[in-house]
This record gives sequence, structure tokens and C-alpha cells, in this order.
Amino acid sequence: MKLISRRNFMKLAASGAIAISTTNKINAKSLLSDLNTPRGGSDPGPHNELRDQENPDIINPPLTDKGTLPNLRFSFSDSHIRNESGGWTRQITQRELTVSKTISGVNMRLNTGGIRELHWHKEAEWAYMLYGNAQITAMDTNGKFFIDNIKTDDLWYFPPGIPHSIQGLIPDGCEFILAFDNGNFDEDSTFLLSDWFKHTPTDILSKNFQISKKNFNILPKPEEKYIFQGTKNKIKYNINKKYISKKKFSYKMSVKKAIKFKKGKIKIADTSNFKISKNISAALVELKKGAIRELHWHPNNDEWQYYIIGKAKMGVFASSDTARTFDMKAGDVGYIPFAMGHYIENIGNETLKFLEIFKSSYYADISLKQWLSLTPEQLIQDHLNLNSNFKKSLNKEKTPII
Ligand code: MN
Ligand code: MN
Repeated sequence: MKLISRRNFMKLAASGAIAISTTNKINAKSLLSDLNTPRGGSDPGPHNELRDQENPDIINPPLTDKGTLPNLRFSFSDSHIRNESGGWTRQITQRELTVSKTISGVNMRLNTGGIRELHWHKEAEWAYMLYGNAQITAMDTNGKFFIDNIKTDDLWYFPPGIPHSIQGLIPDGCEFILAFDNGNFDEDSTFLLSDWFKHTPTDILSKNFQISKKNFNILPKPEEKYIFQGTKNKIKYNINKKYISKKKFSYKMSVKKAIKFKKGKIKIADTSNFKISKNISAALVELKKGAIRELHWHPNNDEWQYYIIGKAKMGVFASSDTARTFDMKAGDVGYIPFAMGHYIENIGNETLKFLEIFKSSYYADISLKQWLSLTPEQLIQDHLNLNSNFKKSLNKEKTPII
């Protein structure tokens, strides 16, 4: 019922498109095609009603769409989930979203006391806390240790090869999004502490750690730890100050001031404020109901998005007479290939919140409106036939949210 206004409902009921059964339930067969009749005709055959309802702009694209842009969306709801004793994880890589060459994403839950096993990997790891609290640790290249507590809206970044760990804290552990600077990264193939021990002869372990071989007879058996249930109490690290790292692997975005606009706000995290994050830059964007993230593009790299709250329409212009529109929801990943023009519209009833993430040391975007505001009126007229009212609408100050 949410999808149809009362007027439309009465019209449809009168036309017989909706049959009201004795139990007063709506017979939803072909409801969508009657409401949003695609220009090519209705869909009397089999179709997935729920998917259709979620994708009005794919079922019946705006007239301005044209051509066959690749799929630019994948939902974590559709990705394989790996359940473990201390939590779960799922990922969206190039395998799931073919165009996502620059970034792959992981969505992970650690229950209270859940531990992501001590590990490292070839890729840089950038994280955004969606929910709850975690304690993270790392060791820098000078052999100094880093420990911090992370809460909702905070970030961390571990450069390639830096060993680290994560523990879910009370009262209810945590859930976070990880972005890796390689679309082919596989969270299931990281360098795990227990895995290396398993693949090192005990005489070598004995030599390396200078204790007798028999000490290693009690190592955990084949199955890897990966995400396991540990103590529910926060692990205590009693490390002398002189072994504490001067590097900041975390960024407390939750307490940073946003750049505010009439219809929303943006927080940017890149090497200008989060120095260590050399391979990943990001913006946390909030759009009020009905607002749009203005027509723009990025001059540095592809955009990887994660939708945190709400519903959006994402329109992408790919040059060569090609454009495509996607419907996005919280939990979805979106992708915009390098330099393609785009907008994001909040089409839900609540504030839309999402992340724009780039494999880049800096955040940058080009505003169409700002560019045209600095372009002489005559030149704009020659291109678009638009009158002086259009020129008046332009603003030399960038307004990323309108
Ligand atoms: Mn990691
Ligand atoms: Mn963008």
C-alpha cells in the first residue's frame, strides 16, 4: 500500500486491476506494471514483485536513460555470509560487482568479545564503524604498538602489511564496513597468525622463539581461527610508554565538525586530516529528505559507495550518449567509474546517509554548477539555448548538497 496513493488505489480498484479478496488482502499481481506502466508495455508473465518494487528506475527507466552501462550496484543482502563463533563477515569484490576494480568491501560483525584474528594483508584497510564499540591494535614499522577504542562514525586505517587485530566490546560488540584498495581483495585469504604457525616446522619455531619443540605440540588444530569468541572483557594491554606508536591509525570522525549546507552535511577524511590514510579518501554525506547530491564528477578515481540509512536514486552519465539510473537502499554498495557524471537523490522519508570512498590520497569533486557559474553567459547560451534565468541560478560557491 505504501507505493500507491489513495487516489491511484481507487482508480486501480475501479479499473479492476486490484482484486480485493474476502480476507481484504490486495492481489498484487501486476500491481507495479499497472502503476508504473513501462513504456514498452505491462509485464503479465512471471516476475519478482519485491525486486520490481525496489527497482522502479530499472523496470521503467527515466526517458533520459540510454544504453547499457554495466551493473553499478550490489547489495550485501545478496552476498555470501561466513558465520563464525565470534561474529560474521560478508564481502563485495569484483567477483560480485564486476566494475569495482579499485575497491572491495567487507561488512563484518563482531559480537561482544568476538575477535578478528591477528593478521595482515597486502592491501590497505580503511574502516568505518556502523554500530557499537571495538578495540583495535596495530604495530607500526618501528615496532611500536597502537591501541585505540572505536565507536560509531569513527574510522581506522591500516597501511599494507601492518599487523592488526579487532575486538568487539560491551554492551553488544560492533559492526563495521571495511574498504580495501583492490577490487580483487579476498578477506578469506589474509595472513593469519595461526595459519603461519601451522605451516612452520616445529624445529624452526623452536629456533625462532628459543624454546623447546614440545612447547608447540599444543597449537590449535587445522581449522583457522579467523573470527572467534574470546573473553567478553576488554583485553588489557600493559605496554610501557616507550613502546607506544606515535602514528595515528584511527580518526575520530564522530567528533569532527561537518561542513553544513541547507539540505545536508558532509564530513571529509583524507590525508589533509587523516594523515596515515594514503590510499583511501572518503566523504560521509547526509542528505535531508528530497535533497540531491548535486551533478558532479570526480577527477581522481572511481567512487565506491556504501549506503548507511535511507533510499536513493543514483543517476550516472557515462558519456557516448549513455546514462543509467539505479535505486539504492541502506546496505547496498554503489559504484561510479572514473569521471562519470552523477547525482544522488534522497527519495526516502528520512535523512539519507552514505559513504563516498576513493582509492586516492585526497578527496576531490568537480561541480557542474560551479563550472558553469564561471563560464560566460553567451557561451552557455551557444551550447544549451538557456536564457539568462539559468545563469542567475548558478552559484560560484560550491553547494555539493542542494
Ligand atoms: Mn585486516
Ligand atoms: Mn560523487
